[in-house]
Amino acid sequence: MPRIVRVEIGLIDLRPRVARSDAIQAFTVQETPFVRLCDAEGAEGTGYSYTIGTGGSSVIALLRDHLAPRLIGREAEAIEAIWQDLFWHTHALSVGPLTALALAAIDVALWDLRGRRLGLSLARLAGGAKDSIRVYDTESGWLHLETGALVDACSAAAARGFRGVKVKVGKPGLREDLARLEAVRRALGPDVELMTDANQGFNVAEAIRRAGAFEAAGLDLAWYEEPLPAEDVEGHARLAAATTIPIAVGESLYHPAQFRDYLARGACRIVQVDVARIGGITPWLKVAHMAEAFNVAVCPHYLMELHLPLCCAVPNSAWLEHIPQLDDVTESRIEISHGTASAPDRPGHGIIWDQRAIERHQRFSPIVVT
Ligand code: MG
Repeated sequence: MPRIVRVEIGLIDLRPRVARSDAIQAFTVQETPFVRLCDAEGAEGTGYSYTIGTGGSSVIALLRDHLAPRLIGREAEAIEAIWQDLFWHTHALSVGPLTALALAAIDVALWDLRGRRLGLSLARLAGGAKDSIRVYDTESGWLHLETGALVDACSAAAARGFRGVKVKVGKPGLREDLARLEAVRRALGPDVELMTDANQGFNVAEAIRRAGAFEAAGLDLAWYEEPLPAEDVEGHARLAAATTIPIAVGESLYHPAQFRDYLARGACRIVQVDVARIGGITPWLKVAHMAEAFNVAVCPHYLMELHLPLCCAVPNSAWLEHIPQLDDVTESRIEISHGTASAPDRPGHGIIWDQRAIERHQRFSPIVVT
């Protein structure tokens, strides 16, 4: 089998087109670590991960100094062996975001390379469970939006065909969160799903208190996302026992074993595994399959261009999150029709890059390792 002969590493800065805010942070720029792999027969694969504004240069340094040199001469098809080797090689930095984000860029590139060599789409290559997935919109529900603007944005999303919208919660007072959600529910009616996201902003008592108020108001919420700090599995288990609103977690977890802890405790009802933060497609699939064994749905966080084919690869996916972020550097677009998106049938992940646009957005000339 062909071996890896060239690794190209870049960092692309992408600005959101709308202001984004939640209970703990603002999303100012997507730093996009980018990896392009070439094998000895000239086949290529591309992968990427992201930060929401800080730490991207550290991911690049890890890739450049410690991970990319270990890829040269490796058999590209030995994806699991490569993942394990790189994970243990940098184990003093794991489990955590730095290694996960660097590993993800490489692992996605390896899966893309495999798909392109075989002429198979990622959706088929990784499982082939379905052709399309429902899409909900997050871009219309940011925390800074005044109630009128929030209602207008959510109504516009529903009019565009989205079958669900997500509204950030975590205002200082319960009543403000409640009033915003009630206004959106009134505008949407009963047939559009309404998700909420607290971005880890509450403690256990406050999370239970707000969940009770949301339930009493008859909001019929699809889920209550990251109500507590991600490391507080016990708190999530207590909250889950105190509310009928499904608890969703996963965007701040960095290893499959962390998902096992949540699932085994009954501390979540939806997993939101993020292909970048979990360390790539290889561990993403492990989490999705583990959730299936617990009869729990997968609704991945962010990165819709990669999560679309992955959602279509596994049977227990329920929703794709709509937050466009690659449009400045891609020619391909996700088409949403009647609230669903279909996975591309192009080989690999199916993203068509605009090379000139990448060059305009890159922070420095790509680093080449041979
Ligand atoms: Mg979230």
